Amino acid sequence: MREVTPITVARGDGIGPEITDAVLYVMDAAGARLKVEEVPAGEVVYRRGHAGGLDAAGWSSIRRTRVFLKGPITTPQGYGNKSLNVTARTTLGLFANVRPCVAYHPYVRSRHSRMDVVIIRENEEDLYAGIEHRQTDDVIQSVKLISRPGSERIVRYAFDYARANHRRKVTAFVKDNVMKMTDGLFLKIFHEIAAEYPEIKADHMIVDIGAARLADQPERFDVIVTLNLYGDIVSDIAAQITGSVGLAGSGNVGDACAMFEAIHGSAPMIAGQGIANPSGLLMAAVMMLVHIGQGDVAARIHNAWLKTIEDGIHTVDIFARGVSRRRVGTQAFAQAVVERLGQMPVTLPSVGYAVTARPAYEAGVRLSPRRTALKELVGVDVFLHWPGGSPDELAGLVQPLATPALTLASISNRSQKVWPDGNADVFYTDHWRCRFTSHDGAIVTHADIVELLGRLARGGLDFTQTENLCNFDGKSGFSAA
Ligand code: NAD
Repeated sequence: MREVTPITVARGDGIGPEITDAVLYVMDAAGARLKVEEVPAGEVVYRRGHAGGLDAAGWSSIRRTRVFLKGPITTPQGYGNKSLNVTARTTLGLFANVRPCVAYHPYVRSRHSRMDVVIIRENEEDLYAGIEHRQTDDVIQSVKLISRPGSERIVRYAFDYARANHRRKVTAFVKDNVMKMTDGLFLKIFHEIAAEYPEIKADHMIVDIGAARLADQPERFDVIVTLNLYGDIVSDIAAQITGSVGLAGSGNVGDACAMFEAIHGSAPMIAGQGIANPSGLLMAAVMMLVHIGQGDVAARIHNAWLKTIEDGIHTVDIFARGVSRRRVGTQAFAQAVVERLGQMPVTLPSVGYAVTARPAYEAGVRLSPRRTALKELVGVDVFLHWPGGSPDELAGLVQPLATPALTLASISNRSQKVWPDGNADVFYTDHWRCRFTSHDGAIVTHADIVELLGRLARGGLDFTQTENLCNFDGKSGFSAA
């Protein structure tokens, strides 16, 4: 008797309960060795006052089983409630979002007959850190955070995924031509890690042209790894052009836990009618079975599902005259998959999965050792809220307040240098960056910066933020003015 794996299941809202029933039915018939712990999630839990959409028993079940199959949740509208997805990603450390996007031409209409792309998106960093501040009347700032360990984990995950799934190429999408330091770090790490996987081709593209190519010629791509925001956008484009968003599942994987779900929402308009397509959640369940080492069951289900799609047994969302043969509801579709267990698709490529258990993805244990660089403070950027006039006027106010250690080197407004020798055509907001640097790169102290800030405050200038300018091992750790 092979091992039974406990999993946590939440049926969710809208069509969630009916598609979850269908998926549990198929997994059971296929011989999945699961012990299901069911927990309430979504609207019913939000109404009871749990802002994250799961109660304490739900979270502890997931922490115990480490595997969560989640039906779609209606995103809460009330103030104070948070999306369960966002909460789960952050509290469970689910750093990798994996979304396979496959076209099933000619059985599901798509303009891209040979599309088979996996988008791997970093889930925890980037602008999604949500660190935002209103600094002046005109300007609000959002902080983009990219870390070396965060980038290493997601890039390594992408290459491990490619290796385990016999994929040939990993492409990084970045915008390092503009964000030279943050996206530049991600790309540097991408190439470092790629060198450890010589059998897998590695290349990179600027995200804008990459997204355009993906939309136009998806067959050129295999695995794409990218940062959180780009991944959010690119993975929706990729899912859409397969022909139906109703067919894709996704995984959110961390060092300790993993969560699997359909990419669609709770479709409240069709809830309770028994017509929803359970395929997205079924594909998520296939990913989950592979994750817990039941790749044999996953392959049985996946191949039976491909045969069902090939046989033209379609739910209403993908039903098309001339292609589909029988229009079925949720449960009848699940029944058709069960009847085909053990069969292989004839024209669509069949699938096979390894049966190596991976209850947790231990990317963290393979991080490169943290290195402490020699850090030298050489200046400070002081951001001012100054509604006043011209850059020359501001320089006239600020220059006399400089200290013996720190002198005014430049002023910029929305990153455009405006003093000295600024471009006269720049539009000025009330948000000014004054860059103070030491003489000839001499090292300054925090006390020097505090002295400067004291003088600015006494001079009536409203500083909203400071950023220390440091060199790390002699190399500049800040962008040029
Ligand atoms: P949706 O994905 O629920 O529906 C979009 C369209 O696709 C609708 O026409 C719907 O009827 C159809 N559809 C979706 N899934 C289907 C399926 N399995 N079978 C047949 N048709 C299907 O998107 P929405 O209407 O924008 O969102 C509804 C709710 O779901 C919102 O509260 C939204 O915030 C939430 N949502 C949750 C998740 C999640 O839990 N991961 C993801 C997306 C949206």
